[in-house]
Amino acid sequence: MSTSPNAVIRLDGVSKRYGQNVTALSGVTLDVGAGEFTAIMGTSGSGKSTLMHVAAGLDSATEGTVILDGVDITSLGDKQLTELRRRRVGFVFQSFNLVPTLNILENVELPIILDGRKPSREERDRIRTLIDRLGLGARVSHRPSQLSGGQQQRVAIARALARKPAVIFADEPTGALDTRSSNDVLAILRETTRDLGHSVVMVTHDPAAAAIADRIVFLSDGQVRADRGNISSDEISRAMLALEPVA
Ligand code: ADP
Ligand code: MG
Repeated sequence: MSTSPNAVIRLDGVSKRYGQNVTALSGVTLDVGAGEFTAIMGTSGSGKSTLMHVAAGLDSATEGTVILDGVDITSLGDKQLTELRRRRVGFVFQSFNLVPTLNILENVELPIILDGRKPSREERDRIRTLIDRLGLGARVSHRPSQLSGGQQQRVAIARALARKPAVIFADEPTGALDTRSSNDVLAILRETTRDLGHSVVMVTHDPAAAAIADRIVFLSDGQVRADRGNISSDEISRAMLALEPVA
């Protein structure tokens, strides 16, 4: 297991059980390097979303420790955890999760507003730059429903980036998009690490999406089964097949 000194996330012996019978994660030890684009791959039910939720402090581990941006989140109370998440983590979900009654700019500023303050001048400049960079400059006063799926996901990415998070978690970010919008969103997430230096952890079951990552962690039955560098979507598909039990 890699033990990078600049890990943005460090899971050590993490298990997650739901009730008595469901073990969603089982003894996961994993470091995620800062500034890297990491894909978490696996079939439906393999534990990808659970891994993301536990790593991001959206859900608690049953066993083990989770260190996020240098903080042991398994020892934090709810309030501290919410604050850490809001300040240091950005989320992108399959279903965009934008607030329908707010316009695009308001949606992007929301993580700052939720902190009980107005964006600083620097933050406003930064947000404006992000919005322009994501090709949404002419859309700031539109509502999410007036935008295409791909555009809505770009708004969600801008929102995730608004507070310069230590890490962005994306759960099947292209799951609801057509091929062209998917490629667009993946390229933006890719640039986020390459050009802006952010760390991205993307959960996906799509080999073509995972092929843009620096590293691919393969999950099966809640365990890490393989850990690879950047490989092609064909190699990813083969690696996925190798994980499946022979019928
Ligand atoms: P994936 O994202 O790879 O499809 P999940 O992490 O969502 O997988 O789920 C892993 C396993 O945990 C599955 O068996 C799923 O049914 C179970 N699971 C996930 N969330 C819950 C929950 N809230 N309650 C009970 N079981 C759950
Ligand atoms: Mg999932």
